[in-house]
Amino acid sequence: MHFRHLGSSGLMVSEISYGNWLTHGSQVEEAAAVACVRAALDEGITTFDTADVYAGTRAEEVLGRALQGQRREGLEIFTKVYWPTGPGPNDRGLSRKHILESIHGSLRRLKTDYVDLYQAHRYDTETPLEETMQAFADVVRQGKAHYIGVSEWTAEQLREGVKLARQLGFQLVSSQPQYSMLWRVIEAEVVPASQELGVGQVVFSPIAQGVLTGKYRPGQKPPEGSRATDEKGGASFIQRFLNDDVLTRVQQLTPVAQEAGLSLAQLAVAWVLQNPNVSSAIIGASRPEQVKENVKAVGVKLSQDAMRRIDSILGP
Ligand code: NDP
Repeated sequence: MHFRHLGSSGLMVSEISYGNWLTHGSQVEEAAAVACVRAALDEGITTFDTADVYAGTRAEEVLGRALQGQRREGLEIFTKVYWPTGPGPNDRGLSRKHILESIHGSLRRLKTDYVDLYQAHRYDTETPLEETMQAFADVVRQGKAHYIGVSEWTAEQLREGVKLARQLGFQLVSSQPQYSMLWRVIEAEVVPASQELGVGQVVFSPIAQGVLTGKYRPGQKPPEGSRATDEKGGASFIQRFLNDDVLTRVQQLTPVAQEAGLSLAQLAVAWVLQNPNVSSAIIGASRPEQVKENVKAVGVKLSQDAMRRIDSILGP
């Protein structure tokens, strides 16, 4: 495993993190979830990402159980707050009330006294940013989270957040956006702003939820047991990539991967890691073999020719 700083902070994170959205507590049985976590640990992954809202809070519970017995100092555990976790008007968002209550639930479910990174899962337009950042400052001062990050904030929101965090005496160190060869939105504004601000990207869905493995083929039904057939939720999220044009282009990446000695999934993970503003790529997996395959992207340097060919096949 290789490690990178999380933004300009001193925290080191594994270049590949393991995340459990849609899998733990939902698509996969507990035994398979534990096997994936074991595989991640065996491959040297130390950074684990979850959220209070995944699988109706069950994902945090499963991860907490799966990590029991590990040396806590050897792990970086990330979770998030924002999306509704209950029916009440205060069971959501980034109010002081919800942040201070939600962190308790997360720590209890994760069976830990602190998380390494606590993230705002989205920007809350209904709560003053000052209130949110003061609540995060208090969470850090109480030792319940060591660092604060955000997810899918715009460049402007990041600038405001970083400024307030500095005034309040803590660091906003990371941004968690979607980023893959098929989803490059952050390159325009978020990455340049983050480089300036010392914010690192912890990118999600680096293989576009499985699409960049090439297993979804144009004109064919999705393979049985894949996320696209997961009626518990996964199927709806992956739809945006499942059209014949995208799937045809993905197949055209095969020679690029082969010439680099990689599988398509490894090419996809290696590609996001070529961006120096990326601190870690969070992979998901429904089976331990997927973790073992994808982790081999660590340390791969893609040639300029490979990068150019990828741009010409998929469009920059
Ligand atoms: P990926 O793009 O890595 O997709 C993972 C899925 O792809 C797996 O569950 C598996 O699905 C399939 N897959 C992975 N490797 C292989 C392989 N080698 N061969 C074949 N199929 C493979 O990431 P996710 O979309 O799962 O997201 C990763 C993490 O990012 C989440 O767990 C979460 O922590 C975070 N995230 C954060 C979000 C946010 O808003 N902040 C939003 C989304 C994710 P299957 O076998 O079922 O086909």
